[in-house]
Amino acid sequence: MTEYQGRCHCGETEWTVKLGDEAHILCHCDACKILSGGENTLNQVAPQSDFKITKGKTNVYTYKGDSGNDVHCYYCPNCTAHAYHHQTVLGDKVIVRTSLLQGAKKFPVAAEIFGKDRLSWQPELAKTFQGPPE
Ligand SMILES: [Zn+2]
Ligand SMILES: [Zn+2]
Repeated sequence: MTEYQGRCHCGETEWTVKLGDEAHILCHCDACKILSGGENTLNQVAPQSDFKITKGKTNVYTYKGDSGNDVHCYYCPNCTAHAYHHQTVLGDKVIVRTSLLQGAKKFPVAAEIFGKDRLSWQPELAKTFQGPPE
């Protein structure tokens, strides 16, 4: 278990999170493409109690995920960088954006999800689930 520092783009919001699994899970879903402006997002799952806002605050908005359940997105109110998501279906766990954590450049890719929405030119890097992880 290592604690990582996270920071939004503008620096008004900072956080820490403890990760047991130091790896990226790539999400290719269409919501992640829109939110990130890129080909996928980089994520890890952590207990909500291991995530702490240490500077500033987050705003939240909600959308319906593929499962029909609510996904709450927590982001910096100034620059809108997403710190973490809470899918109600995951209970007391949150989805942390590993691309915003210091030191995460060395993380390997552990898995890919929503492979059905992968861009046609993007290679497969790890075990891929076509939808959410089973
Ligand atoms: Zn910010
Ligand atoms: Zn996604």
